Amino acid sequence: MDFGFTEEQNMLRKTVRQFVDAEIMPHIQKWDAEGGFDQAIWKKLADLGFMGVCVPEQYGGSGMDYNSLAILCEELERGDTAFRTAVSVHIGLNSMTLMQWGNEEQKKKYLIPQAKGKKIGAFGLTEPGAGSDVAAMMTNAVRDGDDYVLNGQKTWISLCDVADHFLVFAYTDKTKKHHGISAFIVERTTPGFSSKAIKGKYGIRAGNTGELFFEDMRVPAANLLGQEGEGFKIAMAALDNGRFTVAAGAVGLIMGCLEESVKYCHARETFGKSIGKHQLVQQMLANMEAGYQMSRLLVYRAGEMKNKGLRNTRETSLAKWQACDFANKAADDAFQIHGAYGYSDEYPVARFLRNSKAPVIYEGTREIHTIMQAEYVLGYREDKKVGSVLPGWPFG
Ligand SMILES: Cc1cc2nc3c(=O)[nH]c(=O)nc-3n(C[C@H](O)[C@H](O)[C@H](O)COP(=O)(O)OP(=O)(O)OC[C@H]3O[C@@H](n4cnc5c(N)ncnc54)[C@H](O)[C@@H]3O)c2cc1C
Repeated sequence: MDFGFTEEQNMLRKTVRQFVDAEIMPHIQKWDAEGGFDQAIWKKLADLGFMGVCVPEQYGGSGMDYNSLAILCEELERGDTAFRTAVSVHIGLNSMTLMQWGNEEQKKKYLIPQAKGKKIGAFGLTEPGAGSDVAAMMTNAVRDGDDYVLNGQKTWISLCDVADHFLVFAYTDKTKKHHGISAFIVERTTPGFSSKAIKGKYGIRAGNTGELFFEDMRVPAANLLGQEGEGFKIAMAALDNGRFTVAAGAVGLIMGCLEESVKYCHARETFGKSIGKHQLVQQMLANMEAGYQMSRLLVYRAGEMKNKGLRNTRETSLAKWQACDFANKAADDAFQIHGAYGYSDEYPVARFLRNSKAPVIYEGTREIHTIMQAEYVLGYREDKKVGSVLPGWPFG
């Protein structure tokens, strides 16, 4: 595998980095303190063409490869986890799922405006009683003429108040358990839909997260994604892409921790020398560097597999688990290196630490990924062929 970057990818990284430095860094502490998602930033990101980074040109995207999406996520999370999370749900969980499972009509109606950044997509899987245990969901959809009637609730949904379109998962036949779940494309403007943000979040405060409610909400049968009963498979395939973006973002967070820690090590002295000269501080920096390099390799390997059109559930899970754990530890160490100053909002490390926690939980908790990896090794889990595949790159 070749992990060298193309000129186009280097240019993308430079453009995102400049954007983050100019448009996010100067304001992020304030946005984080105030809470809420800044839609103006989203518009600027969309105007730069980032919302369709790995979507084929025929569907309104830039036609770049999947590792370009990783670059975008890495650089965005160096700024703040909220913006990378938004890209994870919009591109990774929603648009890429439409690319993989949508029919032509659905792609034209929903994927094109999302890739152009004119509409925002999100992903509604989690419920109050169903997180890791997806099949415990209660939301149901009953066929009635040309519609399905949805009733239920989702929670912890990123971009709940902001997104125009949601992929929503609901039971069409509860007796079939996993095989009775179906996926629907839902528009915010549908009567019976409402949303409400969760207040008082520990981290990702510059993001919007909350609940969705469906009350006798009529969704046209044309908005069924894939076949009835394919929803669980679709959700898991979506997570292969969402997790990839989360892992890439974690690499960016480690990068941010390293940058801030190195700066502080050169600036702060104790016992007559820079704190960077103390071996125990060096240990923390060395761990960050190791985590950064290892996570990066895992992420770009998974991206390369996506480019080749190969199933990558196992590799993506490993990348997501390890990168998020490394990022959480790097943020803790970056905070430690800053001593008491880490405790104030004068430095970004407290925000890094708070932000680093959700990625260890969402899109498969640390424990779920640990179990997955053990099961692969033991031969208890095997990835079978799925009905629809994410198109390999270059796109045909
Ligand atoms: C900021 C944020 C944004 C989110 N955005 C979205 C979104 O956009 N869309 C969406 O659908 N969801 C979203 N989520 C929800 C997220 O995906 C779930 O929180 C996650 O899947 C875990 O579910 P849970 O919180 O219900 O925990 P639970 O599943 O209840 O788990 C609780 C604890 O038990 C452990 N556990 C559970 N089962 C096992 C097991 N079999 N073996 C060992 N340990 C186990 C878990 O690892 C965890 O430590 C978001 C969450 C957060 C925090």
